[in-house]
Amino acid sequence: MAVEQPRTAEVVVIGGGIVGVSTALQLAKRGIRDVVVVERKQLGAGATGKSGALVRCHYANVPEARLAFESLRIFRDWDNEIGAGSPGFDPVGFLRLVPPRDEPSLRANVAAQQAIGIETGVVTADELRAIEPLIQSDDLTVAAFEPNSGVADPNGALYGLAEAATALGVTILTETPATEIVTRGDRVTGVATPAGVISTGTVVLAAGAWSDQLLRPLGLDFGLVPVRTQVVIFRWPATVDQGRKHRVVVDSTRGSWFRPEGSAGTLVGLGSAARPTNPEEVDETIEPSAIARARGAMAHRFPGFAAATMRGGWAGTYMRSPDGHPIIDQVPSVPGLWVMTGDSGTSFKTAPAIGVCLAEWITDGAPKLVDLTPFRSARILDDQFWIDDNPYTDAADLTVSR
Ligand SMILES: Cc1cc2nc3c(=O)[nH]c(=O)nc-3n(C[C@H](O)[C@H](O)[C@H](O)COP(=O)(O)OP(=O)(O)OC[C@H]3O[C@@H](n4cnc5c(N)ncnc54)[C@H](O)[C@@H]3O)c2cc1C
Repeated sequence: MAVEQPRTAEVVVIGGGIVGVSTALQLAKRGIRDVVVVERKQLGAGATGKSGALVRCHYANVPEARLAFESLRIFRDWDNEIGAGSPGFDPVGFLRLVPPRDEPSLRANVAAQQAIGIETGVVTADELRAIEPLIQSDDLTVAAFEPNSGVADPNGALYGLAEAATALGVTILTETPATEIVTRGDRVTGVATPAGVISTGTVVLAAGAWSDQLLRPLGLDFGLVPVRTQVVIFRWPATVDQGRKHRVVVDSTRGSWFRPEGSAGTLVGLGSAARPTNPEEVDETIEPSAIARARGAMAHRFPGFAAATMRGGWAGTYMRSPDGHPIIDQVPSVPGLWVMTGDSGTSFKTAPAIGVCLAEWITDGAPKLVDLTPFRSARILDDQFWIDDNPYTDAADLTVSR
């Protein structure tokens, strides 16, 4: 039975991806029963449904590492934290590979992560071969290793969050596009959809690559760019042990990343193949050139997979911010409007904690779990772009795997 659109809500969340639904659940957990999520298509129609869902804590800055670390706790303790569905979290271990010139940055980032309690360490190229025997490491000096990080099922995680939210009274309206964030003066007063206006004083905009369409009419230009990226899946050849999953690898020597997919396959992501796009016209299929590039990157790092059989792939779209870091904020010029946008292809793993922080901010007046000050929108409007503590030399190229 179709759910009827309510006329009022305490909070309206725009976007049925992992950020929107995680936020809706956390609001309901804090006692707000009157939360409505509007989703233009179906749950997971945006980046979440297409995500590689690497779950690791390594970033070149502490604020994002904190969000990832707090989220990792939730992925690991899903039954107690969320209590519905399964995120399919598989702690196969995570390796961050960088070219030798980036060794000082890698060491500094690992030290900063250890200082906040993240289980991570620096390993040498020789140690790396023992940790992941399938890897070729001749061109490396060191890597970062997180033994308890891994991968998740992005759609499973989203559906679990939605089930938990619905059980607490959240209304999720699919096939319901928000056409306008309605304001009186500067203040938010509602969200318009083709079925009418939902009156509300509080809106959370989590519309991924489509956020700009609702921000621009409010006079907000955060310099956001929708970006299309591609992933390719390969079946392991018979010569490789079919019973052991390899570690998750982000390899910035070639702008690529690898995760085990299914029982005997590898999903290859190409950060360097990301291109600006129009999210209304996205082609979900992959290009032949992406297959060749993915195979090349995989054959370099996993020589045993060089002759693997290609089994498919897809393209997905996320929103890039000018400095490659998310904007998570109560927009000062529009009271009642919170945004999480510009995820830059890295916010599946951080979404559980982002949901907690946004819900704390809306109900208690400030986020408590993680300080969100570095994610403020004013940094973009004032041209004070985020610069990582210890950046990697390929940072401009790599957003998904950054
Ligand atoms: C191929 C790929 C691989 C990735 N790999 C990783 C990874 O390994 N690890 C990681 O952490 N991150 C990864 N990401 C990024 C991650 O998936 C995103 O950062 C995350 O899913 C963003 O979630 P979201 O809820 O903000 O946005 P989305 O999932 O894009 O959700 C936004 C939703 O809003 C809806 N919407 C848009 N406009 C409207 C409107 N007007 N009204 C109503 N609804 C609307 C859309 O239909 C969509 O469902 C990857 C992304 C891609 C594309």
